[in-house]
Amino acid sequence: MTVLVLGDQLNADVGPLADRPGERVLLIEAADLARRRPYHPHKLTLVFSAMRHFRDRLRESGRTVEYRQVERFADGIEAHLDADPGDELVVMRPPNHGTGDRLRELVERHGGQIEFVTNDLFLCSPDRFDDWAGEQPRYRHEDFYRFMRRETGYLMDDSEPVGGEWNYDEQNRETPPDDYSPPDPPVFEPDAITREVQSRVAETFVGSYEEPPYGGEWADPGPFRWPVTSDQAETALERFVTDRLAEFGPYQDALAAGEWALNHALLSPALNLGLLRPEAVIERVIEAYHERDVPLNSVEGFVRQVLGWREFMRQIYRREMPELADANQLEQSESLPPLFWTGETDMACLADVIDGVRTRGYAHHIERLMILSNFATLLGVEPQELNRWFHAAYIDASHWVTTPNVVGMGTFGTDVLSTKPYVSSANYVDKMSDYCGDCPYYKTKTTGERACPFNALYWDFLDRNAEHLSDNHRMGLVYNHLENKGEDEREAIRARAERLRERAQRSEL
Ligand code: FAD
Repeated sequence: MTVLVLGDQLNADVGPLADRPGERVLLIEAADLARRRPYHPHKLTLVFSAMRHFRDRLRESGRTVEYRQVERFADGIEAHLDADPGDELVVMRPPNHGTGDRLRELVERHGGQIEFVTNDLFLCSPDRFDDWAGEQPRYRHEDFYRFMRRETGYLMDDSEPVGGEWNYDEQNRETPPDDYSPPDPPVFEPDAITREVQSRVAETFVGSYEEPPYGGEWADPGPFRWPVTSDQAETALERFVTDRLAEFGPYQDALAAGEWALNHALLSPALNLGLLRPEAVIERVIEAYHERDVPLNSVEGFVRQVLGWREFMRQIYRREMPELADANQLEQSESLPPLFWTGETDMACLADVIDGVRTRGYAHHIERLMILSNFATLLGVEPQELNRWFHAAYIDASHWVTTPNVVGMGTFGTDVLSTKPYVSSANYVDKMSDYCGDCPYYKTKTTGERACPFNALYWDFLDRNAEHLSDNHRMGLVYNHLENKGEDEREAIRARAERLRERAQRSEL
């Protein structure tokens, strides 16, 4: 019997690692997984470095660890079963669709056996979610979130929510004052292991994100800064709770030029690799509420992200795959413009956010949703292509989490989890950020050479998708505005949108 630990299950306190302390452990560092997409080099460094640190920590604690560094994942399984024919592996169920089936097939082909157990790195089990969801065709996050609050007792006074409300979202839409300077997030300097991995990544994975598929200038990614051990991840959590949690709530939806982190937690890479458990993160934040009087709107706003959204997305992915990955209800077919890889655009908001992704493999939620996905959706980009880009470009990406976020929430490829698309014109960007002031495009103009591209693309998107969206009662108001535009104006918008699409493909925006 051997405990197989996958690269996103690096936690010794849960699952078979915790239940079977005497068993040998198998970790496989496979190059073929890193070649599947043009991943950001920091992403590859993070995963391999975290795996190697985890190996060393397990060995220090007295465990026998077989660490196989191989070209193909299948080679690692084969070598293990050659050395120990017929061995039985036990592993936590992987969240990505099809991985479990492929793993079983591989192990059995080489004469071994494999047992899958519940993945304790999530709070809601598939059975609990299925009980809650029943046969409903659509899912409502707010209902699920309340269900999870009741299930776990987090932020509950008996059967009532702490403070009397389930949700303090209306207090969480502020923008910071002009002179606001958010606390610096921690930097975790690469140690010898990380530096060795960085060299391997640089030497081995040519054709990665460093050489964007479209060519173009590529600035080197900035210094690597992410936590690669559970101790570092706990430090990151502590720094968030001490320095940034109090203002997480009010500025949760804000955007600010040059401020890539604002008050966000930056904990998704650690959570998604298992370095932090979701309950540990939630409980620490709730403790800060009791200990230090951190405002409830910040605490509840944060708990909603981890207890609600993260679990919700994971379960919807599980239930809606494989159809979810290909969903494209608006029949969008445009290619992703090269600027997503190169950052070459005069649009101040897009240029700043893409620069952050190229430098760090990170952008915060509103940047992902209301700048990048919004722009791609308005342009008409095929959801699958955008999903592949998010998957490759982000430090915290994995198919289970990008797919519902990009195909569901970001592009409205399906209506299973949202009732309307998250699209907006320059008006929203201007309201929530300070980008438009210094942008060469005019935020108030829709047509004309220097009109902000968000505007014509927004009205054109509504126009193109009227058949699908105009009956949606949540969109009645914007369709009234569109109706009020004369045919000449609508024609000018269509023409401008068409030119913008062409210019985007030529990197001339
Ligand atoms: P915070 O804003 O501080 O939030 C705290 C935590 O809540 C996050 O660490 C994360 O674990 C969780 N969370 C919040 N919203 C979501 C959500 N919608 N789905 C899942 N978890 C959530 N998240 C990823 O982990 N990986 C991705 O590849 C990813 N891609 C995304 C793509 C798009 C188009 C969108 C709209 C969202 C995506 N998200 C993804 C969700 C969310 O944007 C990130 O989890 C968040 O920005 C991570 O940064 P943070 O830790 O600073 O988060």
